[in-house]
Amino acid sequence: MTAHEPVDVLIIGGGQAALATAYFLRRTALSYLLLDEQPHPGGAWQHGWDSLRLFSPATWSSIAGWLMPSPGPGYPPRDAVVDYLSQYEARYQLPVIRPVHVDSVTRQGELFVVQAGSHQWRCRALVSATGTWSKPFIPDYPGSAQFAGQQLHSAHYRNPQAFAGKRVLVVGGGNSGAQILAEVSQVADTLWITPEPPAFLPDDVDGRVLFERATERWKAQQEGRVTDQPVGGLGDIVMVEPVREARERGVLVAERPFQRFTAEGVEWADGRRAAVDAVIWCTGFRPALDHLHDLGVVEADGRLAVDGTRACKQPGLWLVGYGEWTGAASATLIGVTRTARSTVNEIVDALQTT
Ligand code: FAD
Repeated sequence: MTAHEPVDVLIIGGGQAALATAYFLRRTALSYLLLDEQPHPGGAWQHGWDSLRLFSPATWSSIAGWLMPSPGPGYPPRDAVVDYLSQYEARYQLPVIRPVHVDSVTRQGELFVVQAGSHQWRCRALVSATGTWSKPFIPDYPGSAQFAGQQLHSAHYRNPQAFAGKRVLVVGGGNSGAQILAEVSQVADTLWITPEPPAFLPDDVDGRVLFERATERWKAQQEGRVTDQPVGGLGDIVMVEPVREARERGVLVAERPFQRFTAEGVEWADGRRAAVDAVIWCTGFRPALDHLHDLGVVEADGRLAVDGTRACKQPGLWLVGYGEWTGAASATLIGVTRTARSTVNEIVDALQTT
C-alpha cells in the first residue's frame, strides 16, 4: 500500500468540471490534487464520435479563465475540445495524476480516505467531478437477450461505417439520437424510436440560447422569482447542420417505442414487427458515483442529496458537473464555471473554520 501525503482538497476526475474547479483552487492557498482514470486529458470528450461537434461557438464553450481558441468556421469539433482541455491543464499547470481509477472513498475522522488500487490519498475536502460517460444507460426491454443483432450505446459509437447497408434502430430523442440518426441514415435503413415526440429547437437556437435560458432560470431561482423562460435544455435537439440536412431528407420521423425484442428485431403492442440488424442506444447516462458508495450517501436514484453542489449527508464533499441537479447547465463547458467557482468559495470557508 502506498499512502501519499494528505492534501487539503482532492478532485476525482479530470474533465472540464474538474479543471474548472482546479482553476479556482489554484487561486487559493489550499493544497490540491486531481486524480483522473483516463491516460490522457480531455475527459469524456476523448470518447465522442468522430463527427461530434459542440453545439455552440468556441467563445461560448470555454471554462474559467481562458477562451477556447476558435478552430475555424462552424462549431468546434470533438478534437478541438480535447486539445483545448489538454492545453488548459498545461497552461495552468494543474496537478493531475493519471491514470488513477478511484475505487472507493471512506471517512477517517476529519479526513477522507481515497483508495485507488494499492494507492491511498487523504484529504480534508473532496470534489467528485467524475461525469457520466462511464455510466451509459440502456432501458430494459423484454427479449433483449434473445435479440441476435448488434447493440451499441452512443458512448461507444464512432462512425456509421459499421452499419452500412443494415437495418438500424436509433433509440433516444436527444442530441445524440438526432445526430447519430442523421449520420447513420446516410448509409443504412434507419428507424428512430423516441419515448415522446422529439423537441426540436428553432434553427437559430444553439447552445448560446440554451445557456442564456439556463442563466435566466438560475437568476430567477436565486432571486426567488418565477420565470417564464422556455426550459429548453441539453436534452432538446439543437438543429446543427447535419440534423437540418437529415430533416430535408425526411429522416427525422420518430416512432414511439416497441414492446419487446424478437430474435430478428422488434415487435410493437399491436403485433407489428420490424426486422433489425442493429440497435444504437442514445438513451443517456447516469452519474458515475460508484466510488462514493462506501460513504453511504448515494440515493436510490443514483444521485446524492445536494444543496447546490454540497453533499447534504457528508460534510466536506462537493459534486461538480453532473447536470441540472448540481447546478443549471453545469454539464456544459460554459455552464460549469459558475458552480466550480461557488464550490471553491464554499470549500475555502469550510476549511478555514476547521
Ligand atoms: P467528463 O468529461 O466525463 O470527465 C470526468 C472524468 O472523470 C473522466 O476523465 C472520467 O474518466 C473520470 N472518472 C470517472 N470516474 C472516475 C473514477 N472513479 N476515478 C478517477 N477518474 C474517474 N457540453 C457542452 O458544453 N457543449 C456541447 O456542445 C455538448 N455537446 C454534447 C454532446 C453529446 C453527444 C454529449 C453526450 C454531451 C455533450 N455535452 C456538451 C456535455 C459534455 O460533453 C459533458 O457533460 C462533459 O464531458 C462533462 O464533463 P465532466 O468533466 O463533468 O465529465
